Amino acid sequence: MSELMIEGLSATVAGKEILKGVDLTVASGEVHAVMGPNGAGKSTLSYVLAGHPAFTVTGGSVTLDGQDLLGLAAWERARAGLFLAMQYPTEVPGVRLDEMLREAAVAAGRDVDAVTQLLQDEAGKIGFDARFLERPLNVDLSGGEKKRNETVQLATLQPQFAILDEIDSGLDIDALRDVSRRIEALTETGLGVLAITHYRRLLEELRPDMVHVLVDGRIQRSGGPELADELESAGYGEFGTSQN
Ligand code: ADP
Ligand code: MG
Repeated sequence: MSELMIEGLSATVAGKEILKGVDLTVASGEVHAVMGPNGAGKSTLSYVLAGHPAFTVTGGSVTLDGQDLLGLAAWERARAGLFLAMQYPTEVPGVRLDEMLREAAVAAGRDVDAVTQLLQDEAGKIGFDARFLERPLNVDLSGGEKKRNETVQLATLQPQFAILDEIDSGLDIDALRDVSRRIEALTETGLGVLAITHYRRLLEELRPDMVHVLVDGRIQRSGGPELADELESAGYGEFGTSQN
């Protein structure tokens, strides 16, 4: 049983205060959804957790089983068990997906052949075209294929915690079901998830334990899965902002 604990997290980007004291704890096997209007700071939260150098932490702490993460480089956080699926996955010409994951396997002391097989299996499970495994990372993939790609990486790398920034964007109905089911299955073997989303649809298969509303850099309200239904019909008006 592991715990990702975010306490009083504040951060700036380009000198502008975006996160203003975020508190959130995710335990192994749990799914926490973070919803909120555009510009609320959701992607900023994911970048700060992953260690993106453009963001400056100005207060608070992030720990994984008591180990400070904020003092670690992005790759050290990944090694500690954190995975980020970005809202806009980066295209990396010249780096093959399968080679990158084999390198990661070597770095983690895992059996490379087993990881190669796992990669094939995981691609099959969510209908990710196996040809893409040998192609440069994300290059020329559609939005939906990039999100499937992120899911294949997640399932192959087997982190303790995954931050999913709009993993549902760009996915058609069938792909959304495949991806959310696969991630839900991973939570049953212990993966903890922080799922940023605008839409309740993602949460039909990926069942949240808690839903949090992030507005203006703070979690303004938390509740059970029913909060996602409420937001879907009422929007974020009660939080003093219009959904833009
Ligand atoms: P969300 O994901 O909730 O839509 P973001 O975290 O992407 O919101 O953005 C929060 C605020 O931070 C926005 O006002 C956005 O313009 C600003 N912001 C994000 N990244 C940068 C950046 N690299 N430079 C300047 N401003 C940024
Ligand atoms: Mg965003």
